[in-house]
Amino acid sequence: MTTTLQDCRALDAQDPLHALRELFDISEGTVYLDGNSLGAMPRSAPARVAEVVTQEWGRDLIRSWNSAGWFELPRKVGDQIARLIGAAPGTTIATDSTSVNLFKVLSAALRISAQRSPGRWRIVSERSNFPTDLYIAEALCKDKGWELVLVEPHEIADALKDEKLAILMLTHVNYRTGAMHDMAAVTKAAHDAGALVVWDLAHSAGAVPVNLTAADADFAVGCGYKYLNGGPGAPAFVWVNPRHADSCWQPLAGWWGHDKPFAFTPDYQPAAGIVRYQCGTQPMISLAALECGVATVLAAEPFGGMAALRRKSLALTDLFIQLVEERCAGQGLALVTPRDHAQRGSQVCLSRGQGAYAIVQALIARGVIGDFRAGDGAGHPDILRFGFTPLYLGFEDVWNAVEHLRQVLESGEWQRPEFNRQHAVT
Ligand SMILES: *Cc1c(COP(=O)(O)O)cnc(C)c1O
Repeated sequence: MTTTLQDCRALDAQDPLHALRELFDISEGTVYLDGNSLGAMPRSAPARVAEVVTQEWGRDLIRSWNSAGWFELPRKVGDQIARLIGAAPGTTIATDSTSVNLFKVLSAALRISAQRSPGRWRIVSERSNFPTDLYIAEALCKDKGWELVLVEPHEIADALKDEKLAILMLTHVNYRTGAMHDMAAVTKAAHDAGALVVWDLAHSAGAVPVNLTAADADFAVGCGYKYLNGGPGAPAFVWVNPRHADSCWQPLAGWWGHDKPFAFTPDYQPAAGIVRYQCGTQPMISLAALECGVATVLAAEPFGGMAALRRKSLALTDLFIQLVEERCAGQGLALVTPRDHAQRGSQVCLSRGQGAYAIVQALIARGVIGDFRAGDGAGHPDILRFGFTPLYLGFEDVWNAVEHLRQVLESGEWQRPEFNRQHAVT
């Protein structure tokens, strides 16, 4: 049965989460399908950031470290994020970038593994993992004389049989394909094989339900500016299983990770728990914006929280796939993202023999904002990538996006020269 525009409007009218889009200020006519790269701006953010700047910084000055709770803000926002990822209070901290946090937790995991089983010195990850994750691991391996081994998703089970395997480092939802791992099953298999597991939740936190505690994961990092809507370059977060939190120093042992930072002692004494995963002074203006972003996701709690967001996300991505297949049939598009709900994150990726970049540019010119990810010449094709944030997207948006895609393809509009010029950021 085909779906019509009227059907989509009816779905929006019945959607209990529909009102949450009022938390954002998205221009009329824009369909924003790039919240997996930069989340939309919460309406509350400009006033909150202005308050931090003019009142807390401008008037209260240095007193704000105490009076405005600045010093505790990374822990406070960390605890808010913890509610979205199945983490206990006091185990998560909002700090630094995903790349830097990955360096900290991989280093800690290397130390723990080396103490436990010195014969293990390999890190395994996916070839199509986000490059910064691979670069950080590569650099660490170079420094420590360890080895990074890259495999395809279907080779992970075999890689676990390697007796030299120390750490399995995976991104829960793949940034290119939108494919999602079964976190609990993979973690258990890795533990059974004697390895530690580091999860990157960049495309999971605020996008899909995550339960780090139930999965008994070892370490996790994640991004503040994607589905958490924290703003460009927002602080990221780091979670450490309490069983590891006090077992070693992380290498970026700055004074904010010290047990008594204001004792100003010349030697380092790590704080207990997750606080030692802070390095130096944290960015308060950015943290205030991140808190606004996390609040937009927590605003779904009265409506069923992450489970309700997940239901809507799957309904949106199902509809997008169905409409693309119905309305853009014969246009050379192929679905890259898994159809199986259990293996799908909150995005849909399409490939096409040629023109992926230009098609995305033509869509952006029409106000349908997705993005393009280049193929790697090693079996991973060029991709048109569409992220679906159920907080601010509705079913009519999905209809409009596919209608624009159909028009761009049928008219050949994407072949115009202006859509074939490469920008620095794709
Ligand atoms: C977006 C993303 C990052 C970003 O890292 P930064 O340090 O913020 O640049 C890292 N890893 C994955 C898997 C991502 O998707």
